[in-house]
Parts: sequence; structure tokens; C-alpha cells
Amino acid sequence: MKSKDRPADRKEQKEKMAAVVKVLKDRYPAAECALRWEGDPWRLLVMGRLSAQCTDKRVNEVAGPLFAAFPSAADMARAEIAAIEALVRPCGLYHTKARDLKEASRQIVEDFGGELPREMDELLTLAGVGRKIAHLLRGDVFGLPAVVTDTHCIRIGGRLGFYPEEEKTPVKVERILTALVEPEESADFCHRLVLFGREVCSARSPACGSCPLAERGLCEHDRRAKAKARASL
Ligand code: SF4
Repeated sequence: MKSKDRPADRKEQKEKMAAVVKVLKDRYPAAECALRWEGDPWRLLVMGRLSAQCTDKRVNEVAGPLFAAFPSAADMARAEIAAIEALVRPCGLYHTKARDLKEASRQIVEDFGGELPREMDELLTLAGVGRKIAHLLRGDVFGLPAVVTDTHCIRIGGRLGFYPEEEKTPVKVERILTALVEPEESADFCHRLVLFGREVCSARSPACGSCPLAERGLCEHDRRAKAKARASL
């Protein structure tokens, strides 16, 4: 049995995760999605697809003209691909994204009676929807437990020591975090990780010196860096 698989270690990891969740909850009481989807589930689906390899800011900018031209799934399902492409082009990968948006909109209208489905296996049948978007939709639209393994989540979880920092496989990270985070906290926790990743634990220059998680001894990356510094004295 590997050391991390022992029940005592799992308990320790769960306790540490609960402490991390609390620190981030105190720091970011409002854990809102950065995408402005205006309470329309189909819009969140569209914006989630557009956000692949694109910033949330850019997606929010594109959303205005896009939803003005196509206000509903039925409108987008009927649209010319070229017309969708022209509007989503600033988000990159626009051929694929436009094709997926039209097809997913058609599926929602024809296969799901115009309503976004809530079950994971149904969401995964929608064009362009992978586990990350499916979790985002389940958490934000339906209030279900959801671990959205975006780049911030994957990076920070590794730095904190819940898995090796080199681990970048979303499905593995999702499995590990799902076992550690209380289900009712998971969706908001992931939104908080995005805020924390932008503000404090950035990819290139994490502000470890002023990090609330380091202050409480919750970060493995920081613990190792300090041990290394002591050893070199
Ligand atoms: S101590 Fe540094 S690496 Fe660790 S969570 Fe804080 S900012 Fe990120």
C-alpha cells in the first residue's frame, strides 16, 4: 500500500483540505463564476466551450454580440456556421468552436426538449463538452457537487501537496480532489481557486511571502522551498 493510500494519511489530507477550503472561503466569500452567463444554462454551455484556451474576459466580451445575434439554442441551431465563426473568432479555435456550438444547440433543442440535461453522461454527449465543462454546468446551474479541473485548480492542488506538482492529468486530479473536498463545497472551492490563482498563486510568480496558506503551514511547495533555503545556510 502506498503511503498516501493509508487511511491515516487520507484522514490527514482531508483535514488539510478542509483547512484550505476554510482559508479560501474567508478570503473570497462570494465564489462566482467569472463568465457572465446571466442565469441562462445554455449561455453557460456556450461560454464554457468558448473559454477553451481563451480568457474569461475575452469570452465575456464576445458574449454580448454573440447572444444578441443568437438569443437562444434554437436560433444558434439554425444559424449558418460562418455567421457563428465570425462572432466567436476572437476566442481562437473558431472553426471547431462554432461547429460545436451549433451542434450542441441542436442537440439541446432536438434531444433534450430545449433544456440543458443535468446528468454527467448526458452532458458528455453534447458536442464540445468534456468533463470540465460538464462539471462547471452541474455545479453552477444545478448546484451539484463539481470539481472543475482548470489550469489554476490543477496547479494549486499540486503545489499544496495533494498530488505531485508534475501531475497535470485532469481526470486524475478530479478523482483525487473529489475524494478530499466536501461535496457541497466543491463547486465554489474551484471558483475560489481561480480567484486565488490569479491573485496570489500565479503560474509564473506565486506570492508565497504573503500567502495565507503558507502562513498556516498548508503549502507543500512553500514548506520544501523553506527547507531548501535552511539547508543552504
Ligand atoms: S505558498 Fe506559494 S505556492 Fe503555496 S499556495 Fe501560497 S502562493 Fe501558492
